[in-house]
Amino acid sequence: MNGVRPVLEPTLFERSRPGRGDGKVPHPPRDALAGVPAEQRRTAPPALPELSEPEVIRHFVRLSHLNYSVDAGFYPLGSCTMKYNPKLNEWAARLPGFAALHPLAPEALAQGTLQLLWELERLLAEIGGMKAVTLQPAAGAQGELTGILMARAYHEWRGDDARRKVIVPDSSHGTNPATASMAGFETVHVASDGRGDVDLETLRGALGQDVAAVMLTNPSTLGLFEEKICDILEAIHAAGALAYMDGANLNAVLGRFKPGTAGFDVMHFNVHKTFSTPHGGGGPGAGPVGVGETLEPFLPGPRVLRDGDGTFRLERPGERPDSIGRVRAFHGNVGVLVRAYAYIRAHGGPGLMRVSEDAVLAANYVRARIRGAYDIPFDRICKHEFVASAKSLKARTGVRTLDVAKRLIDHGFHPPTIYFPLVVEEALLIEPTETETLETLDAFADALLAIAEEAERDPGTVTSAPHEAPIGRVDEATAARQPNLRWCPAAGAETPCPD
Ligand SMILES: *Cc1c(COP(=O)(O)O)cnc(C)c1O
Repeated sequence: MNGVRPVLEPTLFERSRPGRGDGKVPHPPRDALAGVPAEQRRTAPPALPELSEPEVIRHFVRLSHLNYSVDAGFYPLGSCTMKYNPKLNEWAARLPGFAALHPLAPEALAQGTLQLLWELERLLAEIGGMKAVTLQPAAGAQGELTGILMARAYHEWRGDDARRKVIVPDSSHGTNPATASMAGFETVHVASDGRGDVDLETLRGALGQDVAAVMLTNPSTLGLFEEKICDILEAIHAAGALAYMDGANLNAVLGRFKPGTAGFDVMHFNVHKTFSTPHGGGGPGAGPVGVGETLEPFLPGPRVLRDGDGTFRLERPGERPDSIGRVRAFHGNVGVLVRAYAYIRAHGGPGLMRVSEDAVLAANYVRARIRGAYDIPFDRICKHEFVASAKSLKARTGVRTLDVAKRLIDHGFHPPTIYFPLVVEEALLIEPTETETLETLDAFADALLAIAEEAERDPGTVTSAPHEAPIGRVDEATAARQPNLRWCPAAGAETPCPD
C-alpha cells in the first residue's frame, strides 16, 4: 500500500489532442496585430491544451468531487470551527455594490460599504465586550500581530521600555509565540496544570516588570474554559502587563463570555471561523481586533467614522497621531467581512447564543460517545472541542493517531486535527461545530469506535489505510521535504505543454 495510486484525473495537457478544440475560439480580426511591433509578436502559437468544451467542464467537475469540503461532508478539524457557510452569506458578498466596488472609490460612492464596516465594528465590539474594533487584519494571525504591536506602542507611549517578554501557555496555538517574536518580544511559555488550565502559580512566578502582555486562549485549544480566568486577569494587570485574548474559539461562548467585560485589554476574532466563511484551503479570512479604552488610541488607521450628518468617511492622515498605522491595504478582506455581517445579522443575539449552545452540546456528545475506546486526557465538560488520544490504543495495538486519521478517510470523514495541541501525546482534537445533525455525529463516533475495534483485531488494515482514497499512504517525510508539485510530460510524449 506504499506509494501513489493511479491519479484519478489526468491534467488537461494529458487529455489534449491536436485539433480537438478547434473552431470554438473566435479568430481575431485580420488586422488585430496591426499595431503590435513585429519583435513583440509570437513566432509560435501558445502551447495551450486542445480539448472540447464538455471535456473541460467534466475535468473540473471531477476535480471538485475529489475535493473534500464542508458542503460535501463533516469536517471535525479541531481549532478551526469548520462550520457550514450559509449560502445567504454568498448572496450578500456577491451583491455588485460590495463585490464590484473599487477600493479607491470616493467616499460618496462607497457609503453602503463604509456603513457595513462601521456597523460590523460595533457588532463585534458588543459581542467581545470591547470599546472599539479594527477590521483591517487579514486573518487571526495578523490580528494577533496587530494586537501585540498596539501593546508595544502603549508601553512605549508610557515610557516603559523594560517590558521585553510576552507570556503564552504551552497549549497555545503556534501563531501566539510567532506573533510575540515578530513583534520583537521574547516568548515565555507557562505550563498547564493537571486539569488543562493555565497553572496560576507558574504564571504568577513568570509575571514581572519585564512582561508586556500575556496571550490567553479562552476557551483554550484543549476546549476548556479557564476556571480561574478572573484570578489570571487580576495577576496580569497587577504586574502592569496587558491581557491579550486569542478569540479563535469564540464559537463556544457567544453571548455568555465577553472578553472585554471580563477584563481583557485586546482580542482578535477569527470571523472566518466563528461567523462562517469557507476556509481551510488557505483562502481569505479576516481577523478583526477589539480593544478596550487603554489601547483605543493605537488602533490601526484609517478607521471608518460617522459624521454628524450621518455620512460615513475614512479618518484623514494624522487625525489620530498615536495610531500604529496601516496593517493592510485598504479596509481588510471586505468580502469576508460582508459574510460575517450577514451571518451575525441573520442569527441575531439569541441566535448566536444558540450557536454556542449547540456547538458545546455536539462536542460533549461526541466526547461521551468515544470515551473508553480512546483516552480523554481532560475528561470534564468541554466547550466547542475536546482532545482525545490514541496513547493507550497505540500501547495495546501499535495503531497510532495518524493511522486512525487515515482510516477515517475510508469511512468518508475528514480526519480531525492530529498531534495538536502538543501537550497531549497522540492527540486528536475534535470540533464538531453546531451545524451537524445527530445522525452525522453518531456516524462519526461509530466510525471512530469501529476503527478502535479494528485496531485490536486487524491492526495492519488500519496502519495501511486509506484503502478507498485515490491516493494511498504517502511517505510523510518525503511529501513534506521533497514535494513533487510540478507536472512533467512522460518522456517522449507529444505534448503542447511549454515544458
Ligand atoms: C486558527 C487559530 C489562530 C490563527 O488564525 P488564522 O485566522 O488561521 O490566522 C490563532 N489561534 C487559534 C487558537 C486558532 O485556532
